[in-house]
Amino acid sequence: MAIGVKVMERPTGDVSYIRATLKGMALTFKHMFQARVTLQYPEVRSSDDWRIATRWRGTHRMLTDEQGRSKCVACGLCPQICPANCIKLVPGEDEAGNRYPLIYEIDEFRCVFCGYCQEVCPEEAIHVGVHYENAEYSRDRFVYDLERLSAQVHPVSTLWDPTDPRGE
Ligand code: SF4
Ligand code: SF4
Repeated sequence: MAIGVKVMERPTGDVSYIRATLKGMALTFKHMFQARVTLQYPEVRSSDDWRIATRWRGTHRMLTDEQGRSKCVACGLCPQICPANCIKLVPGEDEAGNRYPLIYEIDEFRCVFCGYCQEVCPEEAIHVGVHYENAEYSRDRFVYDLERLSAQVHPVSTLWDPTDPRGE
C-alpha cells in the first residue's frame, strides 16, 4: 500500500490562536458533562459498567484434584513452551510410576502472560488467572512455588476462543 504524505504549509504573517483555544475549551467542557468512568480504586474494584474480562491473563493458579494434590503430572510441556523461560520444573515419580512435580515454580516477574502454559497443559493443571493485584516489594517474592500457586483462589482465564472472538 502506498503511503501518502500531506505537506502542511507554515502560516505566514500574524496568527491568531483564539479559534484553536476555543476548540480546546469546548472539548474540555463537553467532557465535564459526560458520565465519569473513573473508579475509586482500590476501594471500588468493579462496577456494573466495568469488570475485568474473563479472558484476562494474570497471576497463575495450579489446580488440584479431590485429594488436594496438584493435577500436574510433570510432563515438562509448559517449561518447554514458555517463551520467557520462567517455569522451573523438577519432576519426580512415586512407587506406582506416577509422575508429579518435586519442584514447580513460576517467576511472575519474568512471565509475559502469554497463556501458552495453560493452552499446552494436557491435565488442565496450570492456568493463568483473572487477577492482577500481585505487587511485591522484592523480586524473590514474585517466584510462586507449587504451594503458593495451588493456594490461589481467583477465577482462571477463559483465554481467547476463536469461535467467540469478541468474548460475548
Ligand atoms: S504465561 Fe507464558 S510466559 Fe508466563 S509462565 Fe506461562 S508460558 Fe511462560
Ligand atoms: S504442562 Fe501441565 S502437566 Fe505438564 S508440567 Fe506443565 S503444569 Fe504440569
